[in-house]
Amino acid sequence: MKVPLLDLQAQFRAVEADLRAAIDRVLISQEYILGSECEALEKEIAAFCGTTHGVGVSNGSDAIVAALMTAGIGSGDEVIVPTFTFFATAGCVARVGAKPVFVDILPDTFNIDPGAIEAAITPRTRAIIPVHLYGQCADMDRIMAIAERHQLLVIEDTAQAIGATFRARPAGSFGVAGTISFYPTKNLSAIGEAGMVVSSDDAFATRLRQIRNHGQSERYFHHYIGGNFRLDGIQAAALRVKMTKLVGWTDGRRRHAARYNERMAKSDVTTPVVRAECRHVYHQYTIRAPRRDALRACLSEAGIGAGLYYPLPLHLQPCFEYLGYRKGQFPVAEKASEDVLSLPIFPEMTEAQQDHVISTILGFYRGS
Ligand SMILES: *Cc1c(COP(=O)(O)O)cnc(C)c1O
Repeated sequence: MKVPLLDLQAQFRAVEADLRAAIDRVLISQEYILGSECEALEKEIAAFCGTTHGVGVSNGSDAIVAALMTAGIGSGDEVIVPTFTFFATAGCVARVGAKPVFVDILPDTFNIDPGAIEAAITPRTRAIIPVHLYGQCADMDRIMAIAERHQLLVIEDTAQAIGATFRARPAGSFGVAGTISFYPTKNLSAIGEAGMVVSSDDAFATRLRQIRNHGQSERYFHHYIGGNFRLDGIQAAALRVKMTKLVGWTDGRRRHAARYNERMAKSDVTTPVVRAECRHVYHQYTIRAPRRDALRACLSEAGIGAGLYYPLPLHLQPCFEYLGYRKGQFPVAEKASEDVLSLPIFPEMTEAQQDHVISTILGFYRGS
């Protein structure tokens, strides 16, 4: 039996007819860039995220870049980011000319350690980008309190956490902006590149709409230097189809997670720790596994896909060598990169597939 890490074919079959109709709508309207499907999607996503504005953009990385540019962050500024995340969180800070300042993570949730943030703040610090890693919110109580105390902006990297909540409040609604990715592997996915920035700050959203389109306020009059961060109409139409399924898909992920938790409770692996304040949406179901690489090879041999997010923390990436970080500086993140393994958890996964994953893992440790 094969159990891929993610089976997009299964999702496609469930929405195929509606997707084709949605693409047809765009072809007939010829609204290829922004347009009515984008505007409708922006309203739907903003409402879902508990914000007053949604601004559709080209992808989740550009969402971060556009939010930073809208905040006027650039050369000479510092932005605090966790070192254990997808590259874009820090790469986008560098792309606008600012300096990423790395902070270690917590060993249980893998999210940024709020207790380590204040020591990283300098007079040049402008913002914090917490990442809601794997689909569970970072500690937004403490992060917002620190940001307020030091007058810093918070931009939530919500790429992996659409629909997650912290104290019943949606991910992306805490900071001045939440950035979302609709990359095809994310919980809500486009059929190509797409992203969104959500915000409840009217002035920020107005400026962001201009930044998204080369900083233009009216046609060919540019108040800011922005970029082409526009959302594609076909992507918006496809996302609106899938949006109607998101709640059900997330329930499916959560059901699979509960079953993994129960079946592996007494095993050698550490199942995900969910904070009481959090509703986890399981973009990834990430365990800590002794002898992780051997387990991964064993799973692969059994036809099971497993993901490694992430094998090298960002402070040790060659491209960030100029920042002067050393190995050993963020031990929690470094240890996590050696231990973590993400298991298949797509909504359409069958019980038989999940049983195969669980029995392979239990068998691996029994045999050793
Ligand atoms: C996927 C992802 C991004 C980038 O999104 P893209 O749409 O691929 O550009 C940024 N941050 C995190 C944490 C992600 O997982």
